[in-house]
Order: sequence, then C-alpha cells, then structure tokens
Amino acid sequence: MTMSSNSAGKKAGGAESSDSMDEDGASRPQDAVHPALADVSEQGADVAVEASADSAELRKIIHVDMDAFYASVEQRDNPSLRGLPVIVGGRPNGRGVVAACSYEARVFGVHSAMPSAEAGRRCPDAIFVKPRFQAYKQVSQQIHAVFREFTDVIEPLSLDEAYLDVTNNTLFAGSAYRLAREIKSLILERTGLVASAGVSYNKFLAKIASDYKKPDGLFCILPEQGESFVASLEVGRFHGVGKVTEARMHDLGIQTGADLRQWSEEELAREFGKSATYFHRVSRGVDHRPVRVSRTRKSIGSERTFADNLHDRAAMLEILDALCEELHEQMQERELASKTVTVKVRFADFSTYTRAHSLPQGVLDVGASRRALPFLLDRALSLRQDATRERGQNAEVGADSGQGGGIDFAHGPGGERGPGRGPGRGPGLGFAQNRGAGRRSGVRLLGVAFSGLTPAGEDRPVQLEMNWSEN
Ligand SMILES: [Mg+2]
Repeated sequence: MTMSSNSAGKKAGGAESSDSMDEDGASRPQDAVHPALADVSEQGADVAVEASADSAELRKIIHVDMDAFYASVEQRDNPSLRGLPVIVGGRPNGRGVVAACSYEARVFGVHSAMPSAEAGRRCPDAIFVKPRFQAYKQVSQQIHAVFREFTDVIEPLSLDEAYLDVTNNTLFAGSAYRLAREIKSLILERTGLVASAGVSYNKFLAKIASDYKKPDGLFCILPEQGESFVASLEVGRFHGVGKVTEARMHDLGIQTGADLRQWSEEELAREFGKSATYFHRVSRGVDHRPVRVSRTRKSIGSERTFADNLHDRAAMLEILDALCEELHEQMQERELASKTVTVKVRFADFSTYTRAHSLPQGVLDVGASRRALPFLLDRALSLRQDATRERGQNAEVGADSGQGGGIDFAHGPGGERGPGRGPGRGPGLGFAQNRGAGRRSGVRLLGVAFSGLTPAGEDRPVQLEMNWSEN
C-alpha cells in the first residue's frame, strides 16, 4: 500500500467509548483536591472572579451534568430498582451496549458503551432495563426550563448535560457558584433527580469541575487556579483526549497537564495535527470556545489520495479505519457526535461513489462506525462494478469531484446515488481483477465523513434500536 500507515496500533475493536469523562464518580481521585480549592467559599469564588476581570473576556461558565442520568430516571420511576445495580441499554444476551448504569453497577466496573454481555459478566446481579427515551426527554425539558430562568446562552451536549454562560447574570450578586447551587436544587425539586455542576471561567474547566465531585458535585475552579489545576490533571481526564490520544501521549511521556505544557505548539502539531492548538491552550487552562447556542457545523470529513492506485480491499479498509478514528477524535474534541457515516471511493478515472449508513436512533461510536465501513466500502465497490458492467461512461461522478480538502463531502447530494443495491449484494471484490482494467479501476482516493452532527454527550445510546430488535 502507498500510505505510510499510521493506523498501526489502532486496532482496538469493539464499542469502546473514547470519552474519558463518562464514568462519573468511578475511580475518581477524590482526595486529590487541589489545596487551593479544598474549601472554596462562595464569597471567595466571587471575589476571585471579579478580581481577575481585568481581562475583559473573563466569563462565568457552568457545566451541568445529571448523575447516571438514564439509570437515575429508572430508579426514580421504579422504586424497586433503588439501591440496585441498574443497567440501561441492550440485553446481556444480545449484542447491545450499556447506555447508562447506576452507581451500584459501576462498582462492578460497568460503564457506558461497554457491551451488555460484558456488563452482565462483570455484574451478574445487574437489572437490565430497556431505555425509555420519552421519559428522558421529558426530564431534559424540565432541566432546560430551569436553565432558561437564568440565561439564554445554553449549549446542550446531550439530554442531560449543558454549558451555561452566566457571565451577565446578576442574581446572587453575580455569583456563578451560588447560581449553580440554585440550579442544582431546582432540578432536584422539580425532577427528583440529582445533578452535578462545575463552575469556571471556560468550558474546558467547567466540564472538568462538574465531573470532579460527582455524584451530587458542585465544584469551582477559579481563574488563578485553572493553570495549576490542569497541571496536576491526568491527560486521560482531559475532555477531547480519547483512548488513542491518551495512549500516544503516554508513549511520549506525557502523563499530566504539566507534562503536556512542556511541549510547544509546533511539537504538538507534529504529533497530534489539528488538535495541537487545543491541547496547547487547555494545558495552560485556556479555552476560548464560546458557549454556542446553536451549532453551524453539519459534517466533518477526511480523505486520502494515493500516488499508486489501491487494489487491495484490506489496505482500503485499513485506511478507512484510520480516517474513521481520526474523525472520531476530532468530533470528540469538538464535543460532537454523528448518526451518519459516509464512505467515499474515487477511482483512477475520477468516477466517485459514496455510500452512507445512518442510525435510526442514538449516535455512532467509533466501534459502530468501524463496523459499518466494510459494508459501505463493498457497496461502493459493487456500485462501480455495476456501472462498469453497464458500460456507461456515465459512471456517476460525485457532486464533489475535484474538491480538495474533503471536508463536508458527505453533505453534498452524492449520499445515495446510482442504482440502489442493498448490502446483501456480494462484496465487489472482483472490481480490480475484472476486465483487466487495472489502471482505470484502481482506487485513487478514499474518504470518510460524518454528517448530521449534534452535540455529543456521554449517556448517548449506541445502536440501541438495532440491539433491542435483535432478540
Ligand atoms: Mg450525565
């Protein structure tokens, strides 16, 4: 193959969640509280926020995150489940995954995105519950109603999680900390459910803060504490550092924020590409991302062009895998998730075929995306085969042909074109050998894109629908 493959070592299959933040509560260094933060008085918090306000940009951000959301709703609505290990998601005898689990189940090492079968092995007494999205949505609306009483600048990450920009709030003498406490207590009062909240001067730290004292946490990271707080933090706890990036950082001797800080942005760029700026900033406690009420970005994509055309399906899959993983890391960094993955194949004669797979519900994790790749590749290849067979020199050319960077290609009209062929059709492996048209039929470019991007959350189900109809 042509590509100097950087996909080696990225073979971890399965539905691994690359979100390092999804196990609220479990294995937290609870006693590792930064000394300066041990007892943040609400007064102190405010004084500090005002005092550092010489940079006019200083913001007050609250990150609110419900504790073990789906499982807590189930326990609330069914008292017989209280105090028991509850797992919401696929059944243990099926191929589903854990969407959420109660703290009682987490003790056994169960966490979200884990295959339900594995969860069942770890916690044989667990009670598996089918998700009730209507109930969760209803609670979500209730907590959003609480948010809206205090600010319009709300960025939801999932049903149970949101950033609030409360910089301009004047209630509680402008105290974001006291406001967060009020929000927590209103949520409990109206829903009977417990939320954790983090308060800080940017999104990165607010999210870390909400996670830090879970469950029922309320934690504040002050402007002058951000830097040293991040310094002592494990990079795996950084939002936007997935399992792959974490492993790479460890290989490079980067364990904590302090280690990360030793690296210049240029050096980071060499190792981590586009994420370098983000890592460089957040390792210093800096994060300028605004709280976005609505997101404009609809898709994200990446492609590779080959000097020598590819003919080997395994090599193609390896590249698609690597692209897929790369994009998942980028989505995670931007706190986005997608339900549609598209594969694009361009041949030496520039004919281009795209094939997409969408989930009816939930979002794709990296495992689910990768499992779709072989099917999408085969469907694209067999489309090509059909077109060649029909001797049409009018083999469909993707609407995006000739476009460079490859971002957002899935958003073009090329999503499902050409004669529709179901996945049941044999893999178009013959495409390379047949007709001896090697020069024309080799693959010149491969791309992967994710579209229909939505704010990512940790309790999102993965292929739940599919899993539940399986047995
Ligand atoms: Mg949550």
